[in-house]
Amino acid sequence: ATPTALLVGTGRGSQLGILIRGPQVLEATRAVDTIVLDKTGTVTTGRMAVAAVHAVEGVDPAELVAWAAAAEAGSEHPIAQAIVEAHGAPRDAEAFVAHTGFGVQAAVGDHAVVAGRAAWLAEQWSVPLPREAAEWARAQEDAGATVIAVAVDGRALGAIAVADTVKPTSAAAIGRLRALGLRPILVTGDNAGAAHEVARAVGIDDVRAGVTPQGKLDIVRALQAEGRVVAMVGDGVNDAAALAASDLGLAMGGGTDAAVAASDITIVSDDLGAVPVAIRLARRTLAIIR
Ligand code: ADP
Ligand code: MG
Repeated sequence: ATPTALLVGTGRGSQLGILIRGPQVLEATRAVDTIVLDKTGTVTTGRMAVAAVHAVEGVDPAELVAWAAAAEAGSEHPIAQAIVEAHGAPRDAEAFVAHTGFGVQAAVGDHAVVAGRAAWLAEQWSVPLPREAAEWARAQEDAGATVIAVAVDGRALGAIAVADTVKPTSAAAIGRLRALGLRPILVTGDNAGAAHEVARAVGIDDVRAGVTPQGKLDIVRALQAEGRVVAMVGDGVNDAAALAASDLGLAMGGGTDAAVAASDITIVSDDLGAVPVAIRLARRTLAIIR
């Protein structure tokens, strides 16, 4: 009876846009009691748009966006897509390096451009935002935006605020996950203001913000060390290590290949609502087999 039940489970799953890597995955769905959710691209659409630009005195905001767009053109991050879209065809860049969870660097003509978290620019590149720009950034973050600081040749030019929207089905999905006995935790590399705004909208009270990709992995391991059985949902390269270490990894199908490769289940539809459906389906299939 076993193979038939498995076929039913996985066949129904694929109809719903839920791809389960193999029968061994079902067992893990039974015991999971905690679900760690990435924010950007998982709970939110990940389709960001530039909301506001703040250039330091003497700098043209359009010029600031142009530098950032050139540096971001090589990145697949939703933030990069928003900035490139805001500018149009970017200038050519060379020596592009993505620093996962922090930002990007590139050479544009003879100029060195870095764009990313303000704290990363300050610590890694010794280019803090000037005070008024830092205050603007903090106010934008408190309002729920994600702020990208931009520097050229070691000079901070200002910052760009990008905003994202919560997927319409995310709040209901979190409610269903709770009903299945899972405790949700929102984990993000983004700032605390943006993280809490999203958490409040979907009904999550446990929020960890400013978390690096390594930090996401550490959180999963620490929860496991407490005896929890951990599911993780993510979409990015920055989630891959945590997805691989979790007891049940779920990747958003619209996310990066690295996240899909590290996961046990792929949600093709990109709808967070499919996550509780997947867990319920897998548990039910397991019950039929036994
Ligand atoms: P999340 O965990 O919400 O998916 P990430 O770990 O991908 O977020 O990113 C964390 C933070 O690092 C972002 O909020 C942003 O400040 C910065 N960052 C990441 N990638 C980029 C990029 N391509 N350009 C600029 N900043 C970036
Ligand atoms: Mg993400």
